[in-house]
Amino acid sequence: MASSAPCLFCAIVRGAVPAHKVRETERSLAFLDIHPLSWGHTLVVPKAHAAELPEVSPEDWADMTEVARWVALRLRKVLEVEGNNLFVASGTAAEQSVRHLHIHVVPRRQADELAFNEWWVSKLQPTDPDELAKTASVLRAKG
Ligand SMILES: [Zn+2]
Repeated sequence: MASSAPCLFCAIVRGAVPAHKVRETERSLAFLDIHPLSWGHTLVVPKAHAAELPEVSPEDWADMTEVARWVALRLRKVLEVEGNNLFVASGTAAEQSVRHLHIHVVPRRQADELAFNEWWVSKLQPTDPDELAKTASVLRAKG
């Protein structure tokens, strides 16, 4: 869906705003995040504007994930990266900042202090096996 508001990532795709490009395909562009969580933090965007996951085509999404995989492997090869977190925020409730879908490829090193798992574990909710089974059933159901 097109937006009437100026889109920063569309401007980067058009070349109207400069970016440090890492990889480009017919459908996707990868460039360095100017506010990195760690050295080499890269964003992968579809060239065709899609604000959120429901708007991106399966073909563009497939290309974005392949580019993200390529970036993650490249980071490991040339920037002494030991692991990666891939992260997508889709929608206001998910705290998406730029309204053009993007995959964060976050380089991880043993010595970094990002501590995602510490935050994650602190947010875990108690589970009820019956509720899990019911939720999975609802998700599998057609429609
Ligand atoms: Zn855009």
